[in-house]
Amino acid sequence: MTLSISDINAAARTIRGQADATPLVPSPFMSGLRGHEFLLKLEIAQPIGAFKLRGAMNAVLSLPEGAAGVTCCSTGNHGRGVAYAAARRGMRAVICMSALVPEAKVAGIRALGAEIRICGESQDSALAEAERLALSEGLTHISPFDDPLVIAGQGTIGLELLARRPDLTCILVPLSGGGLAAGVALAAKTLKPDISVIGISMDRGAAMHASLAAGQPVAVTEVPSLADSLGGGIGADNALSFPLCREYLDDTVLVTEEEIYRAMQVLYYEDRLIAEGASVVGLAAVIAGRLPPSRGPVATILTGRNLDMGVFTRVITGQEVTLGDVTIKGRPYGA
Ligand SMILES: *Cc1c(COP(=O)(O)O)cnc(C)c1O
Repeated sequence: MTLSISDINAAARTIRGQADATPLVPSPFMSGLRGHEFLLKLEIAQPIGAFKLRGAMNAVLSLPEGAAGVTCCSTGNHGRGVAYAAARRGMRAVICMSALVPEAKVAGIRALGAEIRICGESQDSALAEAERLALSEGLTHISPFDDPLVIAGQGTIGLELLARRPDLTCILVPLSGGGLAAGVALAAKTLKPDISVIGISMDRGAAMHASLAAGQPVAVTEVPSLADSLGGGIGADNALSFPLCREYLDDTVLVTEEEIYRAMQVLYYEDRLIAEGASVVGLAAVIAGRLPPSRGPVATILTGRNLDMGVFTRVITGQEVTLGDVTIKGRPYGA
């Protein structure tokens, strides 16, 4: 199974008018820090508040008439996208999530009318349940990242970025299972082979980073993070997102919880925008000086805004945040 830019162009036609054309805005503060124009792709403006609608919409709209319904495992946003797309088609959706998924995300999915199964403490147990349901109830299983239609849908972001700004030299992509990075990198590198595409994850439980280093999919321990949307493994039998990330990503970079915390403050106070921890890892890597100098304009993708408002309030007021066994010492912005 291979994927090409024609699959991404087809996805762009399928989702047109429903999950596309998000704004691309400059960040004056980040541009000043970087020494080159720094642009933010606002996937937080999607109807479900996250880019995952692109892949989910492409997959669900491609199902034949009369399909029984869909199921998936999710860290929250993919489930929300699948639930939204299924509701649009009047189709049943069963979303399987681990107990690590924040309640704000679960509530958002429930509100779209999907059935919810909470199973275990890891993405792996949620995946096992989704696969079981697919067999026992005849539902179509849609992987959050290792599915050709999902990757092609996410890749439409790469098309939009280069259509708007052909002069981009680098794209910073939040990285978990790698569906987003695979699609964006495939699109961007096909259109502009010398662009660099860098995947960014949190430094604990970064499954794709560890797998690329090992040369094969490896399992990681899932831990709570401000970037909860970046949690979970890439699947031992990963067929698509791992090989595509290996082929197309220039590098992967890790950031700490403190750096994510700081970047959420920067985005809020400097750009007046609200986004999840997972969304700001590209900013975090730049602010922490973890990236080589740019040759020209850089873009990052603000992937989602479905955060826990209690946690967010603590971050912007500079308070300590405790997530499971992790405590992030904060400080007020500007202090
Ligand atoms: C899913 C998700 C990601 C990572 O996407 P992958 O395709 O799994 O790498 C990043 N940010 C947010 C907000 C997400 O929901």
